Amino acid sequence: MMLLQIEGLQSFYGRSQALFNVNLSMEEGQVVALMGRNGMGKTTTIRSLCRIMPYRHGNVRFLDRDLAAMRPHRVARLGIGLVPEGRRCFPNLSVHENLVVAARPGAWSLERVGLLFPRLRERQNQMARTLSGGEQQMLAIGRALMTNPKLLILDEATEGLAPVIRQEIWAAVRELKGEGQSILIVDKTLKELMRVADRCTILERGANVWDGAPADLDGDIQDRFLGV
Ligand code: ATP
Repeated sequence: MMLLQIEGLQSFYGRSQALFNVNLSMEEGQVVALMGRNGMGKTTTIRSLCRIMPYRHGNVRFLDRDLAAMRPHRVARLGIGLVPEGRRCFPNLSVHENLVVAARPGAWSLERVGLLFPRLRERQNQMARTLSGGEQQMLAIGRALMTNPKLLILDEATEGLAPVIRQEIWAAVRELKGEGQSILIVDKTLKELMRVADRCTILERGANVWDGAPADLDGDIQDRFLGV
């Protein structure tokens, strides 16, 4: 069974159309990179599939369930864990509390998040607002994992972070992949993205223009679709 299947997705901001024809399918255990230059529709695709914004045409199926009529919290409960752009945590809760309030029954525990991100374990009693940007990002990922998602979605998880922290996050992503976690990922660090992804799909003006293995994403394609 396909984990995620998006067909002919169209999405609008008011009357302005942002997605024209997005198609994406993912199998369980895969890491798929959603790529494309700024403003090409990556975040809108993610927001649409999580139903944070409505889509007007097309199909989105997750584990063979139709997401069209679902509210965002139902989508989350079905097993989609979103780490949105700009890392949302509760600023006035501690690290520990932030993780506990997200928890749902499953394989993930405080201890396991602490093993993945030792920095969080060391800071478990610290208020989230006093964490560094990178630590907040780790906490946002930890919160998503505490829901035991079948699909983890990372939207620009390493953006604006110090190189050391970026590396820690990429190491965690690789570790998650090794454990069989399905991940849909948007990131500007091409090198790391291509190292971890099983497949890449490129969007241009709200539609897919290329899909393939990272090894086939050669310089020409990068220049054409990803260059600035
Ligand atoms: P980025 O890397 O810059 O976030 P992206 O590929 O994620 O780019 P989107 O944010 O999905 O792109 O934007 C797709 C299109 O939708 C763009 O043309 C953008 O201007 C438009 N758009 C995004 N958010 C809004 C909004 N809140 N209102 C109106 N138009 C929007």
